[in-house]
Amino acid sequence: MPVFSKDRKKRSGDITTNNWTFSMVSAYLRCPKSFELQYVKGMEREYGSDLVEGVAHHDALDEDNKNKYKEGRNLSLDRHIEIFADTFSYDAKHISIWNNGVNKNDVIRRGKGMIRSYKNHVDLIPGKDEDGATIEKFFQFRLNITGEVWVTFQGFMDIIGFLKSNTLYSIYDYKVTGKAKTIPQIMGSIQLDVYHVAAAKMGMGSIGSLRTGFISLVKSNQTVDVKDCLKSIKQINWSFRVIKDAISAALKGCFPTCSPDNYLCSPVYCGYYRVCRGRMK
Ligand code: SF4
Repeated sequence: MPVFSKDRKKRSGDITTNNWTFSMVSAYLRCPKSFELQYVKGMEREYGSDLVEGVAHHDALDEDNKNKYKEGRNLSLDRHIEIFADTFSYDAKHISIWNNGVNKNDVIRRGKGMIRSYKNHVDLIPGKDEDGATIEKFFQFRLNITGEVWVTFQGFMDIIGFLKSNTLYSIYDYKVTGKAKTIPQIMGSIQLDVYHVAAAKMGMGSIGSLRTGFISLVKSNQTVDVKDCLKSIKQINWSFRVIKDAISAALKGCFPTCSPDNYLCSPVYCGYYRVCRGRMK
């Protein structure tokens, strides 16, 4: 079941204090100009194959976890691969740029390798809570930006559960990455700090006591890498300072271009390159 269009709804209009997400903050931090083109002007962006590949893996992992949650067992390897390959093949029509010279067959081939590694090494047990939703768990909370200004912040956590090999309960986000995430990257992840605070607000534990981490499908060697850790309250507070500064600037209509040496400012990684930097004579 293709999900790409469902998850990539166009937004346009003035930025308001409603329905902020980590994706929006992350987009603003990467490049305020691309944030403006996407979320304020509602311009259609171009998609690289990396993004479509990541969405297809998330869809297949989600189906796998739902099956585990409902039926008590994971999907078979073949079925998991089939969902990934079908979703990617269907959504490949959205791709404008094939990242790093790969083609459709390359992506499906390495996808099979990563899924095989995931099946062999990750036995994830989703936790159960009162509303039965520890997969794609929705959260929403109010966040004070400054003085009288509050925003609603919302999103979904990929999975809350534990690995059989590691009985510590953790909030995990799936990543499809070139290289395995390092501990400093996990420690500095604003996204995980958002999940940490959201989970604490839902009564899952106190701030500073929850484990968060990434389950990474690693493209370079077609393996899976799982890392999680505890965060300090100081780190979490800093992440929220960054989030609040980004939202505050966006609400004021501040959308500068990013530095040209930012690797994201390129035809391969910026979905607006052609209408922005690419237009410069
Ligand atoms: S081309 Fe560069 S400056 Fe323009 S939107 Fe993309 S990342 Fe930002």
